[in-house]
Amino acid sequence: MPAEHEQRTWGLWIDGGWRPAASGRTFAVENPKDASVLAEVAEGGATDIDAAVAAAQRAFDGWSETPPEARARVMAKAAEILRGRMDEFVRIEVDQTGRARRELAAQLGRLPEWYEYFGALARTHEDTVPPFNGPFLNYTRRVPLGVVGHVTPWNHPLLILTKKVAPSLAAGNSMVVKPSELAPLTPLLLGEVLRDAGLPDGVYNVVPGFGADAGAALTRHQGIRKIDLTGGTETGKTVASLAGRNLTRFAGELGGKAAMVAFPGVAPQAVVNAALFASFVATGQTCVQGSRLIVHRSIHDAVVEELVTRTRTLRLGDPQDLRTQVGPLVSERQRAIVEKYVRIGQEEGATLAVGGRRPEGAAYERGYWYLPTVFTGVRNDMRIAQEEIFGPVVCVMPFDDEEEAIALANGTEFGLAASVWTEDVRQAHRVAHRMQAGIVWINDHHRIDPASPWGGFKMSGIGRENGIAAYHEYTQIQNVIVNLSSAPFDWFADDGAMKRYS
Ligand code: NDP
Repeated sequence: MPAEHEQRTWGLWIDGGWRPAASGRTFAVENPKDASVLAEVAEGGATDIDAAVAAAQRAFDGWSETPPEARARVMAKAAEILRGRMDEFVRIEVDQTGRARRELAAQLGRLPEWYEYFGALARTHEDTVPPFNGPFLNYTRRVPLGVVGHVTPWNHPLLILTKKVAPSLAAGNSMVVKPSELAPLTPLLLGEVLRDAGLPDGVYNVVPGFGADAGAALTRHQGIRKIDLTGGTETGKTVASLAGRNLTRFAGELGGKAAMVAFPGVAPQAVVNAALFASFVATGQTCVQGSRLIVHRSIHDAVVEELVTRTRTLRLGDPQDLRTQVGPLVSERQRAIVEKYVRIGQEEGATLAVGGRRPEGAAYERGYWYLPTVFTGVRNDMRIAQEEIFGPVVCVMPFDDEEEAIALANGTEFGLAASVWTEDVRQAHRVAHRMQAGIVWINDHHRIDPASPWGGFKMSGIGRENGIAAYHEYTQIQNVIVNLSSAPFDWFADDGAMKRYS
């Protein structure tokens, strides 16, 4: 491990290197499994944001003028270096989030593909040449936005950041990142990877700190051309309105309340296999968590019985142990939110079928553990069915016909993702097309790829990550019109009929 981060105190990453915060302050990052202090991290504030934006502004001209194939080479090299340092990244990601190693090894193992995919897009992207009337050459260019800001959460710290960094770099932008203060370590460490890949100093900067301080300073900074936030819907509204004051572009990947809709004909065991993954992966702390399991009445009881039985068998344990299936929640605050909603669910009259408490035993005394929890008898108007809990809680609801299933699935303010489980291909597409959700899986859940657009309808967000849509959202269009005529430029000569606008 390079000496720079062997020490327990991590700096900010600005202009291609580590430095302390201007205030000299640090904050502690905990390991959620036992609440031990993992690292002290420099606490960035407005002065540090100014320094990071200035570094990114200085770096922008050089990087934006670097030919796309050279940018792609740096990105391919970054992918290679990241693969070489994967064990280190996975270990740190597990420690700072508490998520099971088996999940994060699989998730982080794919992240180099984002740099390869977007690097290739930058190389192959062609400017368009729309038709134009008369002796003109008319073409458009996609040019980078400038310095962009990324504000990211703690649940998938490196994946979510990668979804923003790769298209930003490919398009030629420079950037300042404000990661969650709960999990800033891998975003910081990525600075070394990008530097070693040959990225010019100042293109990628990270200022860890708190949302209301460093986050807000970045959001309202006049030198920022776009703010891309992944976080809760309320944070999205705050950040979007701050950004709006400067007409800064805003993209928000926000909250969700994903439905899994299971039709008759699907084996209850298959529904339960899917639900265990969709509901409890990341200890339920994902924006596309299958938090509402909407099951046809004909298979409802069999699904519930098996779901309850198998939920009891999920293996909680040390997140670094490859056999562990469910780790702790990320923080005391997150566990308090989950406990509050479990109380609300019981008060609302839902049936607590399994879980609903902290696990017992010495291994769970410290840290933020909570048992995977299933509520049955849930009505869609209950708060546990409407509000994002962001924890290992699934609400099971029966339905009688397709219309009712669609109404239940669409019946929240969110619209990020949904999954449809059926053996009937016509029904699969018919129902998928009526889901008010930006991502719909058929007989699958939570599958993600650098080429597949990701983002929400309704209150789940604005904009798209992944795919060419994300690349386009990190560019702006410049139109260049060339008059090829050698006739004299004289707008009085057209005999009274203004031809200039024809
Ligand atoms: P938060 O909304 O609490 O925070 C997200 C980021 O925004 C953090 O870095 C936070 O800083 C920062 N922030 C908070 N307030 C401000 C502010 N006023 N100005 C600027 N920045 C601010 O989300 P969580 O970190 O708790 O993550 C969970 C949420 O993220 C869930 O709602 C989840 O659904 C959503 N999410 C959405 C995804 C998607 O793809 N749609 C994917 C993953 C998560 P700080 O850490 O200091 O609070």
